[in-house]
Amino acid sequence: MARRRKVYEGKAKILYEGPEPGTLVQYFKDDATAFNNEKKGQITGKGVLNNRISEFLMLRLSDAGIPTHFVRRLNMREQLIWEVEIIPVEVIVRNVAAGSICKRLGIVEGTPLPRSIVEFCYKSDDLGDPLVSEEHITAFGWATPPEIDDMMSMALRINDILYGLFVGIGIRLVDFKIEFGRLYAEEDVRTVLADEISPDSCRLWDVKSNKKLDKDRFRRDLGGVAEAYQEVARRLGILPEGGPADMKGPSVMQ
Ligand code: UDP
Repeated sequence: MARRRKVYEGKAKILYEGPEPGTLVQYFKDDATAFNNEKKGQITGKGVLNNRISEFLMLRLSDAGIPTHFVRRLNMREQLIWEVEIIPVEVIVRNVAAGSICKRLGIVEGTPLPRSIVEFCYKSDDLGDPLVSEEHITAFGWATPPEIDDMMSMALRINDILYGLFVGIGIRLVDFKIEFGRLYAEEDVRTVLADEISPDSCRLWDVKSNKKLDKDRFRRDLGGVAEAYQEVARRLGILPEGGPADMKGPSVMQ
């Protein structure tokens, strides 16, 4: 079978040339990596779930006025996206201390932060995505000051929207990582949300039990990884029992 041209292959996704100029097809793999590629594995069905979860969240954000690269889902593992130039900065938003901030600042995991904190990391596997300041970003030309303003304000709005959405289904949005891209349209260039938002890139804890429903189950060998991703999809109302025709909206937990 003739296959589209592969444009890029990352750890969890592959990008293919899209059907129209300026579009790409984003394919979600079951591959999982952690600790900067030191730990590798497969989570059965992850690609299918992340494709749906990311679609759902991107559409909710788009409804709320956040510009995104998402066009539409094509099938179980693929979505059509606008081709963007990825800004080489990972934007992390934290509501509760977990992961690297605990190690770096000696904070106990689970401590609520006094306010939501936005961090920037330079996207470089070789360097292990180091934490950087706005000064580094502008000095080395990774993004311009207006792009940093766009990323910062969008990240906080995205956090507000997603935090509320997840609380409604009994999940605490502890932290998440997002990426932005430059969307070129004629003379114009716009900063848009890119990549994915899924349990691979978020920390999601059950509000009542604090059970981890995200990639930390894989990172820390906690077991039940695929089940946790399914649980997130189920609560969002996007894990159909009888196929795609059964798709429902989110079920609100009391
Ligand atoms: N994250 C990610 N990709 C990365 C690094 C972090 O998706 O390369 C996500 C991670 O899943 C978590 C948040 O960003 O939801 C904050 O991660 P942290 O800085 O605590 O790093 P970690 O402890 O996960 O290495």
